[in-house]
Amino acid sequence: MMERTPILTILSLLALLFLWAPGNLSAQATLDRLSLHERSDGKGHVFRYHLTEKVDSFAVSQPSPDLIQFMLYSPYLDTLDFTHPQDSEIYSHIDYHKNVDGFGVDIFLSENTFMKATAYPDRDRNDMLLALEYASEEEINKIADQTNFIYWFDFEQPPSMEFVYSEDNALVPLREGKEFNTIVIDAGHGGHDPGSMNRRLGLKEKDIALEVALQVGDYIKEHLPDMEVIYTRDDDTFVELEERGLIATRAKADLFLSIHLNAVRDERAYGSEVFFLGMHRSESALEIMKRENSVVNLEKNGGPVQLGEDELLIYELANAGNIAVSERIAAMVEHQFRNRAMRRSRGVKQAGLMVLWHASTPAVLVELGFISNPNEARYMNSEYGQTILASAIFRAIRDFKQEYDRSIYQNNTASNE
Ligand SMILES: [Zn+2]
Repeated sequence: MMERTPILTILSLLALLFLWAPGNLSAQATLDRLSLHERSDGKGHVFRYHLTEKVDSFAVSQPSPDLIQFMLYSPYLDTLDFTHPQDSEIYSHIDYHKNVDGFGVDIFLSENTFMKATAYPDRDRNDMLLALEYASEEEINKIADQTNFIYWFDFEQPPSMEFVYSEDNALVPLREGKEFNTIVIDAGHGGHDPGSMNRRLGLKEKDIALEVALQVGDYIKEHLPDMEVIYTRDDDTFVELEERGLIATRAKADLFLSIHLNAVRDERAYGSEVFFLGMHRSESALEIMKRENSVVNLEKNGGPVQLGEDELLIYELANAGNIAVSERIAAMVEHQFRNRAMRRSRGVKQAGLMVLWHASTPAVLVELGFISNPNEARYMNSEYGQTILASAIFRAIRDFKQEYDRSIYQNNTASNE
């Protein structure tokens, strides 16, 4: 048997960018629907993109075993009357991304469903076909290892920062100190504590966290000039966990926002998570606690500091209002990550995080993504990625401030009547 060259292997396995003689480029293509059919030989499924014109080109990628990405390049593609495919046992959900260059999908496969994707134009029609074929877990892992993400927002306009204040949501000046106006931004780790690292790429959590933290602060100063921004650190210095939270408590801040990067042994894990302090801890929260709380050890003797059930209970009793606010802000950050930054969100979770414990204020901790995933690490280290992440966090803070200030205004008006 002839041995395949690595290049051929890569071409046959990986993201293909396929170009062929485009049809009439001036004609606008319409995508009416996406339908899903089972192959008659039982070896897989085929998505059919029902198109009125041929698209210019397309790309397929499988950057993670459970994620198949497919992009149609067709700048004037009309998807106004687009209808989705029926639900299927092979996928859990599909995200659609329409941008200036065309139309992309993220197909999230169901658990323990291992399929590889190939795409080709229909011979007889203008349709595009995306074939998913069952494969072994090993084969899919290998593909995922060598494939890059398609970042949909690479094709989008830069994130917008516009403010649209209508008559009924206009901010009304309130009594001093009652609005949501002070934020403490905490870039995780620093100095002798690098946080998690990607040694192969030479990247450290402390550096990326600081870049994003500073950028969030810049956005706030620029677009919400009545807010005060306090950093726990604005350079590469170490600050104790305890001190970070206390900075927020002393400043009577309205929010303590801690920014971190995740890491696990499995290089394929990716996505963002948002935490607030509480007792309902999940499995992954325990992992985060082990890692993020262990910073304390660098400064103090003794084992890892963990918050016990009692401490968390006391905290919950004393901070019920803060927890509700924290949960709301965490949900808004998560919403921005998922829907505007097109991140894979791993959700909002509770955890016993020391750094939040010392802040007697609403407090959330954001894990931007996995530095252990080479793709995601490069993304988080890029200027573009940092802009997307920082603007997503900024938008969540802005939206929360609007909502919060409005509710205070309404309460004040109600009590004056
Ligand atoms: Zn960290």
